[in-house]
Amino acid sequence: MPRPPIVALSAAAGALLLAACSSTPEGEASQASARADAQPDQRVAQRQAQRQRRGPQFGAVDDGARRVTGVQITDIFAPLDLPDPDEMRLGSGAPGPDWWQQRCDYVIDAELDAEARRLEATMEVAYHNNSPHELDFVWLQLEQNLFRNDSLGTQSRTPGSVMSTDLGAFEGGYDIPYIRSGGSELEFTVYDTLARVELAEPIQPGETFEFDLAFGFNMPPHLRRMGAEDVEQGTIFEYAQWFPHVAKYDDVHGWNTLPYIGNGEFYTDFGDFRVSVTVPRDFIVEATGVLQNPYDVLTETQRNRLDSARSSDETVVILGADEVGTPGARPEGDGPLTWEFAAENVRTVAFAASPAFIWDACKADVTNLDGTTKTVLCQSFYPKEAEAWYHDREYPEGRQGGSSQYIKHAIEFYSEWLYPYPYAEMSNINGPEGGMEYPGIVFCGAKTSDQGLFGVTDHEVGHNWYPMLVNTDERRYMWMDEGFNSFINIYSNQAFFNDPSYMRRGGAAALARVMNSELAQASNTAPDRHWPRWVGSLNYSKPAYALHLLREIVLGPERFDDAWKAYTHRWAFKHPQPSDFFRSMEDAAGADLSWFWRGWFLSAATLDQSVRDVTEIAEGQAGITLENLSDMVMPVVMDITFDDGEVVRRTVPVEAWGASNVWRVPVATGERSIVKVVLDPDIKYPEISRDNNTWEAAPSDAPGEVADATE
Ligand SMILES: [Zn+2]
Repeated sequence: MPRPPIVALSAAAGALLLAACSSTPEGEASQASARADAQPDQRVAQRQAQRQRRGPQFGAVDDGARRVTGVQITDIFAPLDLPDPDEMRLGSGAPGPDWWQQRCDYVIDAELDAEARRLEATMEVAYHNNSPHELDFVWLQLEQNLFRNDSLGTQSRTPGSVMSTDLGAFEGGYDIPYIRSGGSELEFTVYDTLARVELAEPIQPGETFEFDLAFGFNMPPHLRRMGAEDVEQGTIFEYAQWFPHVAKYDDVHGWNTLPYIGNGEFYTDFGDFRVSVTVPRDFIVEATGVLQNPYDVLTETQRNRLDSARSSDETVVILGADEVGTPGARPEGDGPLTWEFAAENVRTVAFAASPAFIWDACKADVTNLDGTTKTVLCQSFYPKEAEAWYHDREYPEGRQGGSSQYIKHAIEFYSEWLYPYPYAEMSNINGPEGGMEYPGIVFCGAKTSDQGLFGVTDHEVGHNWYPMLVNTDERRYMWMDEGFNSFINIYSNQAFFNDPSYMRRGGAAALARVMNSELAQASNTAPDRHWPRWVGSLNYSKPAYALHLLREIVLGPERFDDAWKAYTHRWAFKHPQPSDFFRSMEDAAGADLSWFWRGWFLSAATLDQSVRDVTEIAEGQAGITLENLSDMVMPVVMDITFDDGEVVRRTVPVEAWGASNVWRVPVATGERSIVKVVLDPDIKYPEISRDNNTWEAAPSDAPGEVADATE
């Protein structure tokens, strides 16, 4: 099926504008007319004579497939048109000496009215303008306004997307009675999920702007990253993207004011948070960060059990199934309790609250960057309906405690491979949301199933590296968090299940169907502009699989890991753009990968390698002619079978395609002949047509005898 040429699919993303290339190169026509002048017999004779003069022919084959004039995409190898580097974002892909980023600290006091399912809160904000710019106004992101019936997200939703289109009579969105600074009210105007706050005076570079506000909202009746679920012993509340936060001001876009429509998650500054949540006394609360007042909200038994969990590889029950709802499970007294949490250097905070929570925990061991060690508390909160969270899997050592053990595995695996997990705790909450990630806390909906629970837990915990640590713009570049995370999940799964072949999100064949669809888009497309059914494939599976191939086939694990770790360490607690990622990987791997980024991330290219023929090109030497029939290029991996039964694996680097889409590989055959050639024998590539990957000699045909029949 014809594929569109590689054009500026990423245009709206802003940072990476690709020059469109012509799909009808001028050279084609003139070559075709020159060929028409000669009779077929004459042409064959001319070519044979030419070939005798030049000797054996292999390498790039010039038969109209040259890249400069060829029939395929011609610029797959051209340098990417990236923004000019400067002293903030260097040509090496690292942050430079002029790096700056904003910071924003929050103190939030919230009270949950569980009956009314309403949250009321006050909030103090300290916004640190570390930019060299004067700011005349401040933009807030008001993500709860997505749940209004007239929101952009509600009105623009297509059937089959993640959120229902009709909220019925529900009144969602924020009430914000005031925003004030220094005691004076500030004017603000709400535009859907954004608000522009007017300032009495501009915020100067280096200045901290302090303001405070109040807000309240009703829990939406349906899910989108947060919600409420009724279980037998009470309701589980999950709150995420729940407080008005300052929009991210950066060097690339200024204020990042893309609205919250649904697919694009968030892009925020790091900051310190102090969050207190007041709930009915029988509730257990867990939030991003560390509980500050255990003496107020936990019993002595629970505090002691938590202490032992901090040094235990085995899961310790903090609040058992038989204790939920009993008087002894809560501190004595009457009235609501306020739970206080503190979190440092996080992108946001989320929390969950319920009287139905069972609670267990264990520790993970992490080696810090300076070589010292620490333990991370891995906690799980779930209702009795999800008791599989404890009994999900029995370890060879007899250990129990599925969810907390899965967290422990993920924290230890990713810390060792990528970057030490930076926080003190990680919690997994079972409730209405199927799978969402926030710093130090994740929501996983799976209540049963062995691999399902591991997979979603591992994935959501993995997000604490991308994008909670390496802070990318999720509203524009979903592939930089979902794709990167899905990629690292491949290896965490393989390690956990001790199965090096495990591919969590499907293999080459499934991906080929996605890439060959007429609905295919570049992964580097804002997620709210992806066709709803393809959000998962283009942001999770495809980029993850691409990186897997880059590691295993293009660069090799060692070279890839050096580059991947360099990217992660350079950009930890900073915010890279796609161009920084591309540059940093090339810089640290020592490789020009323009063709890879363009083929896999910046276009909807497809891959179709084929073996055209096998001919004798000299005494004892055969030539295997390979053809790249579509617009993506990849190295070639092939198995060559000789008539004595020996199978030899040969690889051809991607550089072979640099000049032509036809390449002839010389193979020393000696007395033998080649009877079979199979490209991509391990089925690692998403080949859109695999039937042309195999060449087999007809029983009566020795390879040399078919030479000219294939011209
Ligand atoms: Zn994810």
